[in-house]
Amino acid sequence: MTFRAIVLRETEGKVTSGVETVDDAELPDGDVTVAVEYSTINYKDGLVLAGQGRLVKKYPHVPGIDFAGTVTASASDRFAVGDKVVLTGWRVGEIWWGGLSQSAKVKADWLVRLPKGMTTRQAMGIGTAGLTAMLCVMELQDHAVSPGSGVVAVTGAAGGVGSIAVALLAALGYQVAASTGRAATHDYLRRIGASEIIDRSTLSEKPTRPLLSERFAGGIDTVGSNTLANLLAQIKYRGSVAACGLAQGADLPASVAPFILRGVRLLGIDSVMCPAAIRQRAWERLASDLPMNLLEEMIVTEPLAAAPALGAQILKGEIRGRTVVDVNA
Ligand code: NDP
Repeated sequence: MTFRAIVLRETEGKVTSGVETVDDAELPDGDVTVAVEYSTINYKDGLVLAGQGRLVKKYPHVPGIDFAGTVTASASDRFAVGDKVVLTGWRVGEIWWGGLSQSAKVKADWLVRLPKGMTTRQAMGIGTAGLTAMLCVMELQDHAVSPGSGVVAVTGAAGGVGSIAVALLAALGYQVAASTGRAATHDYLRRIGASEIIDRSTLSEKPTRPLLSERFAGGIDTVGSNTLANLLAQIKYRGSVAACGLAQGADLPASVAPFILRGVRLLGIDSVMCPAAIRQRAWERLASDLPMNLLEEMIVTEPLAAAPALGAQILKGEIRGRTVVDVNA
């Protein structure tokens, strides 16, 4: 049997990609085989597709850091043929063949059962980005940032993680200030729940002062660098920021002043190696807390062959919301 997949090849240090027909026998040695229905394009997929960030160790490689589909073979007693499953993280799509493919073979421990009532397309509308946004929201809640505490800022708001964070927070009753660099996304951000829009240039310049006026009860930062530093400087006494991304940069030119003078907490979020029990809880929360009509507003569906071009676009910050890839189209 064969299947179609995006295959990355490296020749003289240059990575090329395209749709190829692959034999089942070439799949990695996992214990559960999944007929993939949908995958997505995340920022990290952009890096992998472009051969950047030294994320892939061995070529030829099948990218795709997340997927949802139906189990077609299982050597695990946890999953049976016909089960609907979701996979995000565990370095699948980086050091293990991933989901931009009609077939994937992975370890049972990496799979999450699709929450009741959620379709595989919705699951990938959410994807790694949405799981990360939910983990950020859960951390803020665990650190007592509640709707009554004040406005919560979301940076990189029109991107994948940002969009789902805005919609989740708004649905939970928070006032959301969405920071974006794209004027064309303002209406979209208001439709999905933003009550205030911040021009990202007001956060992305080099910080000039360690503390600014206390403005936000909390924050979800997908951007890092100057933006995270300026956000921390504007967090209210004992507020928290969940930091998950580096779209502006991996540096953090901040001062300790917000931590030691205002008791501000900086909460690190990793979705890749996040323990299975927390993942399962996050997916259940996404099924109950994320309004599916708002998710639809964020999703564009594209065919498998479009993945390389979409990867280049996400690295340039040109993708709005979430791009779902129908691997059978
Ligand atoms: P997207 O490209 O969809 O979103 C990133 C957004 O950041 C852009 O849409 C843009 O928002 C903003 N942005 C881009 N470049 C800059 C810049 N130079 N300065 C300021 N803002 C910028 O990516 P994702 O949502 O998929 O991922 C967001 C980040 O989160 C990435 O860094 C990714 O690696 C990280 N991530 C981390 C995870 C984890 O487990 N920790 C999991 C998933 C993602 P706008 O146009 O609104 O300004």
